[in-house]
Amino acid sequence: MSLPADCLFCRFVSGEIETELVGQSERAIAFRDINPQAPLHVLVIPREHHADVAALAASDPQGLADLVTLAQEVAFEQADGEYRLIFNSGPSAGQSVFHVHGHVLGGERLGWSPA
Ligand code: AMP
Ligand code: ZN
Repeated sequence: MSLPADCLFCRFVSGEIETELVGQSERAIAFRDINPQAPLHVLVIPREHHADVAALAASDPQGLADLVTLAQEVAFEQADGEYRLIFNSGPSAGQSVFHVHGHVLGGERLGWSPA
């Protein structure tokens, strides 16, 4: 597992950069996206650094399962429990932070224009 010194989300995990958590578990944390695309837009990230969701699935399947569980908990606590969970993987798919994160979107009836 490589741990880039300049990883923004690792700094959130370590507390080097303070962020208000809306949920957490042993393996993961949740915080609001700085540029929300829906009334509920939270990012769920593992405490361990993995570049993308496939890397997380390959090296820590339980960590991925825990991430999904945290996403659902946040959706129930912050909205009505219905949500969309998106993992952008690779720059052309929109990934800009290379510490895996799930976008938890909800809080309204969502449209569907993902491409
Ligand atoms: P992606 O484009 O899928 O890699 O998602 C990265 C997300 O991180 C974007 O939705 C950004 O709005 C969000 N983001 C970037 N910087 C911050 C920050 N400091 N705090 C919270 N969210 C951030
Ligand atoms: Zn990281």
